[in-house]
Amino acid sequence: MIDQQIKSVIRDIPDFPKPGIIFKDITPILKNPQVCDAITDAFIDQLKDIEIDVVAGVESRGFLFGLTLANRLGVPFIPVRKAGKLPYSVKQKAYELEYGTATIELHTDAFEPGQKVLVHDDLLATGGTVTATSELIKEMGGEVAGFCFVVGLSFLEGREKITPISDRVIVLAE
Ligand code: 5GP
Repeated sequence: MIDQQIKSVIRDIPDFPKPGIIFKDITPILKNPQVCDAITDAFIDQLKDIEIDVVAGVESRGFLFGLTLANRLGVPFIPVRKAGKLPYSVKQKAYELEYGTATIELHTDAFEPGQKVLVHDDLLATGGTVTATSELIKEMGGEVAGFCFVVGLSFLEGREKITPISDRVIVLAE
């Protein structure tokens, strides 16, 4: 099963990036081409009934499988980046973090109005990042086709937060 494969390779890093947080390190996945392929295959299989025009990957670990996924689906990949990183004209969205705020950006020509955008990130925690991403997509005239993640931290209830935006939420390992 894909969830067991993923869980067998990711590792917990205690007290990263600050004391009290147990960080799920996904980098061991990247050292294992067979697991990478299995993850992409699982996404493709679970996305087969969803209409997708564009894949949006959230900086930075959402770029890793986001681009592969877009290529396999035969659709464009667009990077969702932190403020100040994208070179062309941008639209931005600020959102609340536990302490302070963060801002994400998309290029103004990232997609066409009415297109269906799949939002991808490596990990779903509280859902704050992808909620802000969906709001930005909608403000730019797009539709959220669904969400997909390699890992989900179910105790943070991110799934409950994003299901009202789209009930198409795929989490390979929870
Ligand atoms: P959220 O906005 O859902 O609270 O946090 C998700 C974002 O933070 C994602 O972009 C994800 O990459 C990052 N993140 C938060 N906690 C972890 C973690 O334990 N492991 C990894 N790999 N990313 C995390």
